[in-house]
Amino acid sequence: MSSDTPLFSELGLSAPVLKAIQSVGYETPSPIQAAAIPVLLEGRDIVGMAQTGTGKTAAFALPLLSHLDVKQKSPQILVLAPTRELAIQVAEAFHRYASDIPGFHVLPIYGGQDMRGQLRGLSRGAHVVVGTPGRIMDHLRRGSLDLSHLKSLVLDEADEMLRMGFIDDVEWILEHTPKERQTALFSATMPKQIRHVASSYLNNPQEIKIASTTTTGDNIEQVYWMVSGTNKLDALTRILEVEEFDGMIIFVRTKNATVELAERLEARGYSAAALNGDMNQQVRERTIDRLKDGKLDIVIATDVAARGIDVERVSHVVNYDIPYDAEAYVHRIGRTGRAGRSGKAILFVAPREKRLLYVIEKTTRQPIKHMELPSGATVTAARIDQFKQQITEVFEQKVDLTFFNDLLAAYSHDNDLAPEDIASALAYLVQKERPLQVKFADVKQDKPKRDMTRKERTRDRDGRREGPSAPRREREMGENMQRYRIEVGRKHEVRPGDIVGAIANEAGIDSQHIGHIKLFDDFTTVDLPSGMSNEQFQQLKRVRVRNQPMNISLDSGPASGPGKPAGKKPAGFKPKHKKPGGFKRDKS
Ligand code: AMP
Repeated sequence: MSSDTPLFSELGLSAPVLKAIQSVGYETPSPIQAAAIPVLLEGRDIVGMAQTGTGKTAAFALPLLSHLDVKQKSPQILVLAPTRELAIQVAEAFHRYASDIPGFHVLPIYGGQDMRGQLRGLSRGAHVVVGTPGRIMDHLRRGSLDLSHLKSLVLDEADEMLRMGFIDDVEWILEHTPKERQTALFSATMPKQIRHVASSYLNNPQEIKIASTTTTGDNIEQVYWMVSGTNKLDALTRILEVEEFDGMIIFVRTKNATVELAERLEARGYSAAALNGDMNQQVRERTIDRLKDGKLDIVIATDVAARGIDVERVSHVVNYDIPYDAEAYVHRIGRTGRAGRSGKAILFVAPREKRLLYVIEKTTRQPIKHMELPSGATVTAARIDQFKQQITEVFEQKVDLTFFNDLLAAYSHDNDLAPEDIASALAYLVQKERPLQVKFADVKQDKPKRDMTRKERTRDRDGRREGPSAPRREREMGENMQRYRIEVGRKHEVRPGDIVGAIANEAGIDSQHIGHIKLFDDFTTVDLPSGMSNEQFQQLKRVRVRNQPMNISLDSGPASGPGKPAGKKPAGFKPKHKKPGGFKRDKS
């Protein structure tokens, strides 16, 4: 991100949209947003080359919402997306960005979802419809979707729609919408057919491509972890346990996330602080000085706040949220490996963001190695090392132990116990709060998979192709899975897709790790990777599906039926971490 990044307030967005941006905590526009928003606000068509993770959804949603007329009940904005997961995600993004527009409605529509619910939603009226091409086409044919007053149409992940065989449907839809509509086409790549769609159906579009010239130093070891199963916070704390780090900068996307993560790490005993654009210059400088002096080990920062930080002892950079592009990545990891030292950069990549990983690798011309999360045995070994080190330090510091020697000699004599047994009991007491022996319910780690081939795709009832999640529902509960119960069911008109979307988006569990979903009248069971953290579980408890709180609880098996008491905690439920007591690794 360059230093001439504009502010959101300078782009011409409407007041309610700016307010929503403020409350989600975005600090500055991402490069694609800075480039696309003014053009879309002008009413022009655009062709944007951007992949997931670049902030492309907000790049079109924010300007289009700024021009929304809430009084017009028939759809004004239509977004076509290749998969139902993306359709749900985009619909949720619209919902978030329109949180200050009273009376706003967005409706996701996708294959495999019950028609009746969609028809009801459509007849109630929606300002924005986000859908997969096949289903949108069905509704247009039936006459249940009226696009005669459509103002804007977005083709999201156009190359994916092409790959999934939807391009004819897309063209058909384009032909059945008003000619004077505004059109935005986003695609990670620009194959010939997509160029053809752009030149045939878009009106003198502005091309937006974020160019970046970038190189990284070879004194920085670069690795990535593919986010799966374990949530990001748990993964991070595991890494913190085993990595020998001096100073660390963790990058997140929002101001809110800097504060939230700093608090969570502090609660786990690390000396961590937030650094974001809301803090005044003086506070920021003080934080950086504390990092320099070793009074602080971890700084959680946004891109803007961390720009130009030059602290030699920063041995690690963690990209907790993936950067928007290769250029931002290079800026971020350049905070380590200063003054000729070596550094390490760790990148968290959600499966949906893997293209961005490839782009970063390609642009920087450096491979980023896949890393496994440290296992329970590795964390145990690290804790044992620290424990031994602490004992050694007592002897190195020549602490006067006479009082304790006498005390324990007397105890040994009175109770007829060997000194080593007493030492073991003491060791046990010291580690009770933070056990030396660690066991994780490890979930299989993923390497990025190649994209699906045509054959691997299945067809749904309507004869339309579905994404990779289709076979999920037939699967039995796999290893490392636990069955949960959620308090929404058929009578709430909930569909498996709603549940997948809610869980994937809110708990950061990738949709391909969400197992069997079984709908009952009052509730639903869903299989999720075991070893869910307390935070993740609490977060899920608050999630709403179809406007109902999920109220998730661990399901106790086949006996589950209406009236079964809910509210049990999962087996892997961990007590809240106390600050490491007897032996701790932070220096605060
Ligand atoms: P997308 O590329 O649209 O899938 O967005 C990827 C992620 O970036 C989403 O989680 C957004 O919430 C987040 N995001 C989008 N724009 C911004 C921004 N300006 N600042 C911080 N985060 C953002």
